[in-house]
Amino acid sequence: MNKKITVIPGDGIGKEVVEGALQVLNVVAKKFSHQFEYEFALAGGAALDAAGIPLPEATLTSARSSDAVLLGAVGGPKWDANPQHLKPERALLGLRKELGLYANIRPAKIYSALVDASSLKKEVVEGVDIIVVRELTGGLYFGKPSGFEQRNGEEVGFNTMLYSESEVRRIARSAFEIARKRSKKVCSVDKANVLETSQLWRKVVIESAKEFPDVELSHMYVDNCSMQLIRNPKQFDVIVTENLFGDILSDEAAMLTGSIGMLASASLGGSVAMYEPVHGSAPDIAGQNKANPIATIASVAMMLKYSFGLSAESDAIENAIEKVLSAGFRTGDIHTEGMTLLGTKEMTAKIIESI
Ligand code: NAD
Repeated sequence: MNKKITVIPGDGIGKEVVEGALQVLNVVAKKFSHQFEYEFALAGGAALDAAGIPLPEATLTSARSSDAVLLGAVGGPKWDANPQHLKPERALLGLRKELGLYANIRPAKIYSALVDASSLKKEVVEGVDIIVVRELTGGLYFGKPSGFEQRNGEEVGFNTMLYSESEVRRIARSAFEIARKRSKKVCSVDKANVLETSQLWRKVVIESAKEFPDVELSHMYVDNCSMQLIRNPKQFDVIVTENLFGDILSDEAAMLTGSIGMLASASLGGSVAMYEPVHGSAPDIAGQNKANPIATIASVAMMLKYSFGLSAESDAIENAIEKVLSAGFRTGDIHTEGMTLLGTKEMTAKIIESI
């Protein structure tokens, strides 16, 4: 198989973890006789420094003409004081919008070797296997009007939470389809007791469920869901929710597994999907060979499966991660007593060795 991948390392640890993931892809390509061609592109702070804008047109052109996009992470204190349209994070929103990536898929699965790395009790987290399907291109992050203005002699900030029926229907369908391949349970999370957008959300999700009679649908308010994720996470299989709630809940689900450094994600919907670790650019550890590369390596495993249909290759990576963890190798974020501490490069090398 011959595939072109647009690679956007981004900022901070993004560059380090992407380098590791590409090394893993190269090994998989060799072992299974594929060819992956990489086209490097800029986004975020790196693009601001080089081109003065967070998402250059050249990056979008590259992404649109490739078979998949791999992104590290963007952002950092250097650009924090920039005006809104020149913040690195605008690149993420732009990529999602321009590529039509309305469904963000985030698995939160406990690796058995890492049960003790969770801050929750072993019996609560053992066997947790959740997928959060987050709507990615609507809601509060994109709704207009938004901005700042003077009201009654003081400055106010405002955003608009808005969903159309078609936006809800397509993300609901994505969730039902994913659930069909798993244990056929979807929990739709909203705040329908307060928000009109949530009332529409719930109505459309219920309508959409009729197309999937084999999938069991339940509903939960977002505040309760955040409690239940900590109290009894095993009750969940697929959670579907809007953009802001999904942003928060998927990070919470992430922590069940021990570290945000372990979690992969896929953004689907358009003709080209984007794969990225859930974590950010971690300025506190950037450039120190301390970042956990597993989230990004697991992200390329998702790319192989979802974009290229290469399940055996994807499983080879997943199994290698599991094996390395079972052998007691850890990066700092998941390290516990008695385990062998490795840096980013060394952890990547161990996974490659295991493949
Ligand atoms: P973060 O995810 O970068 O870091 C949170 C904490 O987790 C830090 O202590 C960090 O050291 C640790 N961490 C994160 N990834 C790790 C890894 N792979 N291995 C080991 N430890 C890891 O979140 P933040 O600190 O809130 O944000 C930092 C910057 O990243 C900000 O500029 C933010 O806007 C940006 N950000 C970008 C994305 C993205 O590009 N998708 C996502 C979230 C945050």
